[in-house]
Amino acid sequence: MTVSHTDSGWYTPVSSRPILDESIECDCVVIGGGISGLSTLLALAAAGVRPVLIEAHHIGSGGTGASTAIITQAAGSEQGAREMIDQFGLEATQRIFGYVREGIRDIRELVRQKEAVCDLRTQGYINLFENEEMAQQEHQAQIQLGNDNQLLKADALRNHVQSSHYRAGLFFADPEWNYVLNPYTLVRLMAGKAETLGATIYEHTPVLSLQEEADGVLVKTPRGQIRARKVVVATNPFTIDLKGLPRPIQRSVLPVCQYISLVEFEQNPFQNCSGFSDNSTLDYMFGNVKDNLVMASAGNFEFVASRDPQMLKESHAANKEQLARRFPDHPFQIRSTWPGRIGGSLTSGFLAQTGFATSRKNIYVSFIGDGLAIGHYLGKVAADAVMGNEKSIPPELRIGRAVPLTMALARLCPRRVVDLVAPLVYNSGLF
Ligand SMILES: Cc1cc2nc3c(=O)[nH]c(=O)nc-3n(C[C@H](O)[C@H](O)[C@H](O)COP(=O)(O)OP(=O)(O)OC[C@H]3O[C@@H](n4cnc5c(N)ncnc54)[C@H](O)[C@@H]3O)c2cc1C
Repeated sequence: MTVSHTDSGWYTPVSSRPILDESIECDCVVIGGGISGLSTLLALAAAGVRPVLIEAHHIGSGGTGASTAIITQAAGSEQGAREMIDQFGLEATQRIFGYVREGIRDIRELVRQKEAVCDLRTQGYINLFENEEMAQQEHQAQIQLGNDNQLLKADALRNHVQSSHYRAGLFFADPEWNYVLNPYTLVRLMAGKAETLGATIYEHTPVLSLQEEADGVLVKTPRGQIRARKVVVATNPFTIDLKGLPRPIQRSVLPVCQYISLVEFEQNPFQNCSGFSDNSTLDYMFGNVKDNLVMASAGNFEFVASRDPQMLKESHAANKEQLARRFPDHPFQIRSTWPGRIGGSLTSGFLAQTGFATSRKNIYVSFIGDGLAIGHYLGKVAADAVMGNEKSIPPELRIGRAVPLTMALARLCPRRVVDLVAPLVYNSGLF
């Protein structure tokens, strides 16, 4: 598998859909062809709305197509379950994990007839720890959330991972709730399905601006425009620039960098699992295991406000060093790297968000989910909102409580001040 700096390891070239080069009208436009946008599109089309989707590049070219594509019941956000329960309380955390489960179940259903095409693998997911006590705590928290998992102490762990670095692990074995697949194929599958239900998709058509009008929104693109009653913005604020969104929202988002490395082991140290994460330290590593290849997103995972390209080089070296430390007996090569962005918004940390952009009742935002499953769920919620069911936006997923405050701050501060202050704000744990 060869990957350039701009393509994901999943990418397979396919023919494009047309560019929008006329003026059209429709009930709802979805902007962004990742998992969130496609989920909205599919839900709307299935409900008989004839939606239009506009994608700046091609379907799946954003975070979705670049992701490590581990789908697991074990993760409700970037935080562990223990931390989430401490921060949000048991009930709210249970609900968040419930949204994730709904996404996981739907995606599994979507690929059921196309498992080979989507490269579905279901050998379970393993959460690795350097410290047995931390593993114990996470194990208990996951049980509280109803997520069946097996606590593996050092000896038992060796059946899954050959590394003396790890002292314990949690194994999530249920193939219905823990799997990896090709996310690029998944979203293209969803696109085809939505089209057969009456949706229209334009690719290579970046949206330049959203202009509110008396009875809807005017969506402008380089060669055409759309008048729509409602708009869903599913552009993943962390992987793009945010032109077109209201400025306060643009400023309340901080993109941070995450990198993917394709790691080739002579003999893969992972057995009997299709995905893993290393929860030992802040420099998390997530990996999708296939034969002797691991697609890992790792390194520089702390909040980084810089967009300096030099980071790619540094991250590559950092990943290499991390891997060497974790698998000293397993020589490997990092064959390529891909820079991806992932991040949080100042509005409510890493939690997924859906809701109105400020008070604009015809523009919905389906911000990044922390992952494919929640992204899918958010997309469906946005579709519900478009169809008039505002109540279906769960409280935890509404654009954060801190929105008015952070937006006011963002309006007052220049971008570079926000960039500088944002990591401190995140780390303060206030949001
Ligand atoms: C490196 C990395 C690893 C990850 N690993 C995992 C993992 O293992 N498991 C997991 O579940 N999740 C993972 N994620 C997270 C997951 O990929 C995202 O949460 C999810 O894909 C976000 O989907 P989305 O539809 O919101 O955004 P995206 O997939 O980014 O889609 C947004 C789309 O909007 C388009 N767009 C942007 N601006 C415009 C515009 N002006 N006009 C028109 N179109 C526009 C973009 O081109 C893009 O296609 C990872 C993410 C990264 C970056």
